[in-house]
Amino acid sequence: MILDLFRLDGKVAIVTGANTGLGQGISLALAQAGASVIGVARRSCQETAEKIQADKGSFHEVIVDLSRPEAVDTIVDRTKALAGRADILVNNAGMILREDAIDVSQENWDKVIYLNQRLVFFLSQAIAREFFFPAGSGKIINIASMLSFQGGIRVPAYAASKSAVVGLTKALANEWASRGIQVNAIAPGYMATNNTTQLRNDQERSASILERIPAGRWGTPEDIMGTAVYLASKASDYVNGFTIAVDGGWLAR
Ligand code: NAD
Repeated sequence: MILDLFRLDGKVAIVTGANTGLGQGISLALAQAGASVIGVARRSCQETAEKIQADKGSFHEVIVDLSRPEAVDTIVDRTKALAGRADILVNNAGMILREDAIDVSQENWDKVIYLNQRLVFFLSQAIAREFFFPAGSGKIINIASMLSFQGGIRVPAYAASKSAVVGLTKALANEWASRGIQVNAIAPGYMATNNTTQLRNDQERSASILERIPAGRWGTPEDIMGTAVYLASKASDYVNGFTIAVDGGWLAR
């Protein structure tokens, strides 16, 4: 039956940045669909774990700072030890630094590019090598942004890195679709999480953003749950290299 295609029973999903915001919402969604979730974060994922366990789902955490060079090996090793497999990778962790382009230092530029772009590639490569290529299947979901399509204001490294995520999604899909691996992305619109606290606190920017969203409200982590399950499931097996906007209509304006 069609809804069975969306079930994730027996699957193991790695979600980076699972402690809060969109990563927490995605973790809950995949767990509710039946996956066992390995949440990667710098800080405790206790809140995410409690929410998943309340639904009788399975959750393990791997605490690691993704900006450290050993992070990728740690995630692979801990996944092997915890589950012995991985079927789904969600590259969700990301950072944004807001400052005028004229003032951005090389250090801040590198921090953002490292986490939002470089790590997305090398973690995908490592998980594909270790788990997806041998199994002949796998799902990668990258978290892009409206700034994958637009330039934004005062966030040049973020815009560059999120534009790269869309290109990388297509590049990996082209090489790995024939290996049974689907690589796709979700581009969230303006969502009410830590990532946008500064924007939402700026009355003027906040009002002008809200006024431009056809849906008339900021998005929430719940809003991307359905798309995450779809892209993680068999229902999307012939979808490759595509970025789905979940934006309340922002890009349609
Ligand atoms: P958030 O700030 O709440 O989440 C960011 C996540 O990344 C957190 O879990 C954080 O712990 C993790 N993270 C950051 N640096 C890390 C590091 N060095 N090591 C380990 N984990 C690290 O914001 P969010 O909105 O939930 O962001 C999730 C993703 O969605 C990000 O990639 C963000 O760019 C993207 N996004 C957000 C919005 C939005 O409007 N909120 C819009 C488009 C895209």
